[in-house]
Amino acid sequence: MENQDWKNLGFGYRDTDYNVRCYYRNGNWGELEISSSNVINLHMAATSLHYGQEAFEGLKAFKGKDGKIRVFRMDENAKRMQDSSDGIMMAKLPVEKFQEAVRLAIKMNKKFIPPYESGASLYIRPLLIGTGPEIGVKPSEEYLFMVFVMPVGPYFPEGFKPTDLVIMRKYDRAAPQGTGKYKVGGNYAASLVEGGLAKKGGFSAVLYLDSKKKKYIDECGPANFFGIKGNTYVTPESDSILPSITNKSLIVLAEEMGLNIERRPVPWEELAEFEEVGACGTAAVISPIKRVYDADNDHEYVYGTEPGPWSTKLYNKLRAIQYGDAQDKYGWVEVID
Ligand SMILES: *Cc1c(COP(=O)(O)O)cnc(C)c1O
Repeated sequence: MENQDWKNLGFGYRDTDYNVRCYYRNGNWGELEISSSNVINLHMAATSLHYGQEAFEGLKAFKGKDGKIRVFRMDENAKRMQDSSDGIMMAKLPVEKFQEAVRLAIKMNKKFIPPYESGASLYIRPLLIGTGPEIGVKPSEEYLFMVFVMPVGPYFPEGFKPTDLVIMRKYDRAAPQGTGKYKVGGNYAASLVEGGLAKKGGFSAVLYLDSKKKKYIDECGPANFFGIKGNTYVTPESDSILPSITNKSLIVLAEEMGLNIERRPVPWEELAEFEEVGACGTAAVISPIKRVYDADNDHEYVYGTEPGPWSTKLYNKLRAIQYGDAQDKYGWVEVID
C-alpha cells in the first residue's frame, strides 16, 4: 500500500489481507478465527438470506500524528449490536468478544491504515448473520459474526462541504414500532428505492419524517439529524431512529461548548427556524446541510452554502479526538498496539 493515493480512495469495498470470524453453535460462541478468504460458505436455507436475520455495525480506526492507531467508542458499537440482536432474535455476542475481534482485525491489517496526513481512515464493518437452515419463520440456532476492514478516503476530499436533503412523504424507512432503532440490513433494503431517487435528484439523502403521522423529523437514510438555533442543539427523539454514536458524542461536545441540548420530537415546520442543519454519523462525522427540499410542498429551507460555525466547531473537535490531536477527556478512544 506504499504508493496508495489515500486521499482519493472514496468509500468503496476493497479487499484487505485478513478478516475475523466467530461462530455460534450449540448455544455457545466459539473462539475467534482469522481468515484470509473474502467469501463464506453459507447454507442456502440460512435465516439471514430468507428472513433478514442480519445486523451490522460501522466504526473507524485512525492513525495519529504520533503514529498510534486509535479506535473510537467501540464498546458502544458492541452494545448496539447486542440491542440489534435482541430486536431480531439473534444470539448476543459478548461485548468483550466484539472488542477482541475488532482489535484483531485492525492489527492483522495494519498496513491498510491510511497515514495521518491523508485525512483518510480504516473503516471497520462487523456483522452478524443467522446461518442455520430454517424454512419456517423462526430464529436460527446458529450464527456467524465477522469483522472486516477497509481503508476509506476522507469523506470530504475537497473540504467540509454542505449538501442537500429531500423530504418525500410517500416513503417510509421503518414502521413506527418496527425495527428503525436497530442497525439491521432490512431497514436499508427498505430505503433503497427512495435513496436512489434522492441521489438522482442531486440530493445526498432522504430526510424521513415519522411514519405514523408525518409530523416529526426522524432521521436521514444513514445518519441522524440535528439542527441548531440560537444557543441550542436540537435532535429528534423517536422510537424509529437508530441511536447514532456520533450524535451521542456531539451532544456531549455541544454541551461542553456551552450549547443547550434538546432531544425531543421535532416538527418538520421547525426546519424554518434552524440556523444550521446537519446529518451525523461515522462516515462523515457531520455532513452539513445547505438545503432541505420538501418535495411534497415544493418548498425549500436554505441554510447557506458554507458550513455553520457550530457545525464546524463540533466537526473539528470530534475529529481531533479521533485522530489524537485533542485530549480524550471522556475515554472515547482506545489505542491499538
Ligand atoms: C449507522 C446509522 C447511523 C449513524 O450511527 P453512527 O453510530 O453515528 O455511525 C444513523 N442512522 C442510521 C439509520 C444508521 O444505520
